[in-house]
Amino acid sequence: MSGEGLTVRDLRVTFDGFTAVDGVDLAVHPGDLRFLIGPNGAGKTTLVDAVTGLVKATGSVRFDGQELLGRPVHKIARMGIGRTFQTATVFEELTVLQNLDIASGAGRGPWTMLRRRKGIPEPVAKALETTGLAHLRDRPAGTLAHGQKQWLEIGMLLVQDVRLLLLDEPVAGMSHDEREATGALLQRISADRTVVVIEHDMDFMRSFARSVSVLHAGKVLSEGTVAEVQADTEVQEVYLGR
Ligand code: ADP
Repeated sequence: MSGEGLTVRDLRVTFDGFTAVDGVDLAVHPGDLRFLIGPNGAGKTTLVDAVTGLVKATGSVRFDGQELLGRPVHKIARMGIGRTFQTATVFEELTVLQNLDIASGAGRGPWTMLRRRKGIPEPVAKALETTGLAHLRDRPAGTLAHGQKQWLEIGMLLVQDVRLLLLDEPVAGMSHDEREATGALLQRISADRTVVVIEHDMDFMRSFARSVSVLHAGKVLSEGTVAEVQADTEVQEVYLGR
């Protein structure tokens, strides 16, 4: 396991005087699989937006010891930080393999066909295997099932050697079997990476989270294992509605 992972200190984001993220502290280490949960409007997406440079924030966000705040989005992405959104963004007309090639940077230029004769580059082969998409590599991405598209999008981050993955509701709209496969995929990729998952699906969280942070009104209300946050009376009151 390498690197220190993600450390967020006193993070604040305001929109026209409204504080959406209100002094958040967070530490997620490589090998963790952290779920971010909380009611709608709690600030989960804004927190991830701040980490990835999409919104302005104050405080500190460090990844493997390097400060991210103040850097532009593309520089943050180049530091090994990748994100998925609820709707997968893949090139529908291109095959699975071509999508991975392009994401890895190997698919550009006239030498692509030449290189192809030498076989699939190792990072792409590894991503095909990790995501379970090897048998679908020549299928146009547009013909994939919903779950498979999400896995392809994760694969497109893996080929870029992303070491921090921030995933926004990866199992939304998935079947039971797709959820189980996604959970297993997240466990595999988080073994040596830092993975943060925004999630609404409590069953999915219970099955796969290694740790949980509960956000409420822009603050971390509770943090710990699934059992610990579930036993937290404050969480039960504001979130689980008991
Ligand atoms: P969550 O992801 O937990 O549902 P969000 O981070 O999307 O919550 O939103 C947190 C709060 O910030 C909400 O009250 C939302 O309306 C507000 N918010 C988010 N983005 C903006 C924006 N661009 N401008 C103004 N308010 C925003």
